[in-house]
Amino acid sequence: MQNKVLIIYTGGTIGMVQGKDGSLHPFALEGIYQAVPQLEMCDYKIDSCQLENIIDSSNMTPKVWVDIAEIIEREYQHYDGFLVLHGTDTMAYTASALSFMLENLGKPVVLTGSQLPLGMLRSDGRENIISALEIVAGKELMIPEVCVFFENRLYRGNRSTKVSAENFDAFKSYNYPSLAKVGITMTYKKHLIMPQPEGALKVWKQFDEHIAVLKLFPGITKELVDSILHTPGLKGAIIEAYGSGNALTEEWFINSLQDAIHRGIVLIDVTQCKAGSVKLRQYAASCDMERIGVISGHDITIEAAVTKMMHVLGNYGSDAERVRKMLETPLRGEMEG
Ligand code: ASP
Repeated sequence: MQNKVLIIYTGGTIGMVQGKDGSLHPFALEGIYQAVPQLEMCDYKIDSCQLENIIDSSNMTPKVWVDIAEIIEREYQHYDGFLVLHGTDTMAYTASALSFMLENLGKPVVLTGSQLPLGMLRSDGRENIISALEIVAGKELMIPEVCVFFENRLYRGNRSTKVSAENFDAFKSYNYPSLAKVGITMTYKKHLIMPQPEGALKVWKQFDEHIAVLKLFPGITKELVDSILHTPGLKGAIIEAYGSGNALTEEWFINSLQDAIHRGIVLIDVTQCKAGSVKLRQYAASCDMERIGVISGHDITIEAAVTKMMHVLGNYGSDAERVRKMLETPLRGEMEG
């Protein structure tokens, strides 16, 4: 029987075509065969659908993550895999969010986009769509993960990050190797790919948006730290610290964090470095944070940390112990164990 894939079009640069006046506007999905005529040659069936509102991914919200996940949930039994066409700006956030939402995912969900619109001559979108579709069709290997495909690499979605606003090679995964490389052949690194899940797909749809990212910089003031940590309704904050999770050791800073923890706000320490991991206690500059109960985010990306915190607080927010445990533990391969 022919494999079947579903394209879910959400917007972004990839979906733009140039009008007669030279301006870029979103194309109608039916036009995809015109933009990528090679799709006629595929030996699997391609269906497509699109979100009600096509967006620049800078306008992404948890509500849209739920819309995408609900399409996958509704169509899960009818397709072998799902290709999500998405703007590159927040693609790593959506990929991370979907990975947490889709528990026991047994089929590939691959996000791709492009730096140049499909409607332009030199667009990278055509190659990205064709290769990503091949992976999604799962004829060689069924990858039970949410992934990002870009240029010639398949990444675990919750490990990926956008690194270039210019190059076709726009994504990287610094703390986990790519899952596949596409050249003349597709080379899958099977030992790095998640095993097939045992249970049935379960879709988690709650997100708690009452979180903050507190990025440290030399000269940061108490006023700024306190104003962020006293944001009304705040439930959690991600501290983007230096190097292996180090922060200033000044008393006012540690007191502000401790006060937030006493008020029930959960704090995670992640690193501003692109590669490497938080190692609490490696330096004196992180000992106090560990002592007062800041959780290590290990080698998680900021995109995965933000979406994981929203997911965990949204679904288990009333159980502080569970929230802590889940934030400390890898849920979908998003950080080292
Ligand atoms: N602003 C666009 C978006 O993220 C950029 C892109 O698609 O590359 O929707």
